[in-house]
Amino acid sequence: MSSLQVRCPQCHTLSGYTTANKWRPFCSERCKMIDLGAWASDAYSIVGKAIEGDDALEQPLLDDNEQRVVGGTPSPNQH
Ligand SMILES: [Zn+2]
Repeated sequence: MSSLQVRCPQCHTLSGYTTANKWRPFCSERCKMIDLGAWASDAYSIVGKAIEGDDALEQPLLDDNEQRVVGGTPSPNQH
């Protein structure tokens, strides 16, 4: 058992899971970068949404109140 073989999570190619393979468990730098890139873009979009949500918390509430006032006006008129 000199060399353990693992499937590259990116392209599913079998590659050696050894200290010689510094991209393990990926088969190559490219596959590792693709996977890291996908993960990073996911993380960034999640962080971006969270920050946007926190920042926007107060503004949408004001907008919502305005809309409720505007939306509530027609009701008395209909009576
Ligand atoms: Zn690969």
